[in-house]
Amino acid sequence: MTKRQLEELLKDMSLQEKIDQMVQLPAGVLMKNGREIITGPLSDLHITQEELDGLGSILGTYDPDELNRIQKEQMERQPHHIPMLFMLDVIHGMKTVYPSPLGQGATFDPDLVRDCASMAAKEASLLGVHVTFSPMADLCRDARWGRVMEGTGEDPYLNGRMTAAMVEGYQGHDMQEPYKICACVKHFAGYGAPTAGRDYTAAQLSRHTFLEYYLSGYRAGIRAGAGMVMTSFNTVEDIPATGNQTLMRDVLRGELGFKGVLISDYGAVKELIAHGYASDKDDAAAKALTAGVDIDMVSDCYSDHLAEQIRSGKISESLLNEAVMRILELKNKLGLFEHPYRYADKKEAERFILSDDNRKLARRAAQESIVLLKNEDDILPLYGGVRVSKSGENQDNTERQNIRNKLALIGPYADSRSLLSSWAVAGEQKDVVTIREALEECGAGTLLTAKGCPMIGRDEICYNCESRETDSLSDQELCEMEEEALRAAREADQVILCVGEHFLQSGESASRTELLIPAVQQDLMRKVAQVNSNLITVVVTGRPLDLREVVKLSKAVLIAWFPGTEGGHAVADILTGATSPQGKLPMSFPYCTGQEPISYNAFSSGRPMPEGKHLRFFSGYSDAPNEPLYPFGYGLTYTDFSLTDPTLDRDVMSQEDKITASAVLTNIGKRSGTETVQLYIRDLSASVVRPVRELKGFQKVKLEAGQSCRVSFPIDISMLEFLRADGTFGAEKGKFQVFISRSSAEGRPAEFTLQ
Ligand code: BGC
Repeated sequence: MTKRQLEELLKDMSLQEKIDQMVQLPAGVLMKNGREIITGPLSDLHITQEELDGLGSILGTYDPDELNRIQKEQMERQPHHIPMLFMLDVIHGMKTVYPSPLGQGATFDPDLVRDCASMAAKEASLLGVHVTFSPMADLCRDARWGRVMEGTGEDPYLNGRMTAAMVEGYQGHDMQEPYKICACVKHFAGYGAPTAGRDYTAAQLSRHTFLEYYLSGYRAGIRAGAGMVMTSFNTVEDIPATGNQTLMRDVLRGELGFKGVLISDYGAVKELIAHGYASDKDDAAAKALTAGVDIDMVSDCYSDHLAEQIRSGKISESLLNEAVMRILELKNKLGLFEHPYRYADKKEAERFILSDDNRKLARRAAQESIVLLKNEDDILPLYGGVRVSKSGENQDNTERQNIRNKLALIGPYADSRSLLSSWAVAGEQKDVVTIREALEECGAGTLLTAKGCPMIGRDEICYNCESRETDSLSDQELCEMEEEALRAAREADQVILCVGEHFLQSGESASRTELLIPAVQQDLMRKVAQVNSNLITVVVTGRPLDLREVVKLSKAVLIAWFPGTEGGHAVADILTGATSPQGKLPMSFPYCTGQEPISYNAFSSGRPMPEGKHLRFFSGYSDAPNEPLYPFGYGLTYTDFSLTDPTLDRDVMSQEDKITASAVLTNIGKRSGTETVQLYIRDLSASVVRPVRELKGFQKVKLEAGQSCRVSFPIDISMLEFLRADGTFGAEKGKFQVFISRSSAEGRPAEFTLQ
């Protein structure tokens, strides 16, 4: 439709029709036989049949036949035959699930992340989905918050690159291209900084920190063209985001130039009342609309409380018209007016979904996401990467003839399909390859598999993890389970211990006060370590954990995140050396929970602790180091690299210039490997304090053993810009340090002056 046709359509719509476009309900209200549901649970929402007939969008389903039926029937009922929008949380894949977003952050590979999003868009679109509630661009620096799993970590630059890549992957250049869906950047804004990590609480950030660092991910997503943005549940400067006019009108629409559709988070318009920001639903509806929220997701504030206020002139109809126009424009951009059924295609879906190519991509993404934290005595790859058959023979017939290739594969994740995370809404466990299956497939020698313990112990507090298997197991069964594991550990040459968070311990509403693997698993680990010290631990987790004990007891530690459908294959590939690990931490792993929030890009205090010291009256803890156990950007490979100090082609730069920083990377180990070379800059003095380091670039470099290469980064003025004390963006003259390093905690700087 042309803009003009859309305007004419809008002019012709009744007030009720317009409001209906602004309401989103769960798909269940329109599902077959679901009509009577209106008198059931949804009666709370006071939705009438008439409102349902004109409903603008639904969320939460992906059945192509059902969605085509709904589209047809709704369009027949809607007086102007306006098509509906179907939305879903496609967070890290649809049916083929790739690693959770934090794991994707660890790949430091935006091209790969773009490809994954594109594959998810295709699977989702074939199942009838028009919009995904992804990417989550919230900056996350507090691992107590369960939703760190859904973001790409603690760094604004990495977060921005990944957010943009996801938007590009979902939407392509134009949403009308085949198999593209609309991206919804969320949760605007500051949702990743809840007080004490507790979900939905206030984001208490200075205005400066908020604007400079916390907005950057959303900004990148909007620049990449995201068609939608979702509000957040939290308050920003003491006003709930969903009713925050300054935030939505001045910052989002004004400063960031967002022109698309703004949707509330689930029930967030009504929650303005619980926040104490609106007196009733009338007030909540008025405040959200005035702030510029176009769609009310699952509440009856818009459906029941706007019409009268508009008729009486309390709220201007022009506000409503603006919102409805944005929704119509989105439907138009998606091509729905001309082709309302262009998405759902059951036949094509059957061919494409979980295809070999999709699985291959998911496997590569999972491989690249896995981070090796420790590898004492080069215990990994198993048998030095030599392949062994099931019967234990050395297939490569190399010098390592005498290996006793008996492996104990122990732990609740050893043979588990629970590798998908709480946000894989369409993914199915039946499609997941377990670590055991993958190791057996690739010939990793004789495997003695034993679970050893349940995922969560009987006495452990995990309010989310209902119906635990521990409840159904007797004490004797638990003992036998453990004994079987210890027997296997005693008998084996090496132990691969697969432990980690229950999948419901991270994600929405999964904040934690102790960042440990469940105690029952920790206990198993201690006992296993006593009988076999060749311990290789694979940690499945949604978030950074306090891994002090795991690291102490294990010779090797791998972080597998929630790796997805092909997670088992990817872990086995790394263990056996079929591929080398190359992931880098996208969030610091704390020394202990009490350090949270912790991130490398902090400000210096006036009393910075001298390196390696613990002095009184300097900024530090009296019972723990200041440094995390593993910093942002850290991750080992199976080879070793050296990196020279950076050199600059000039040490003075003018506003128009570029300077080039470079360093020589050499593979000094015995195998090929990929290193992620990271560029950090520090502004030594400015009108506001600047972080001790900020990531400004990275390059993944693959080198064969013995090979060297010079890695160069051009530095231009845009990389030195920040939000200055006077509220403008720009660089300030003075001295800057440049680090080129393999993590955020190493490297000696070079220095230049900006004139
Ligand atoms: C979450 C959003 C999600 C929405 C719809 C909310 O509870 O905060 O991230 O997109 O539900 O499922």
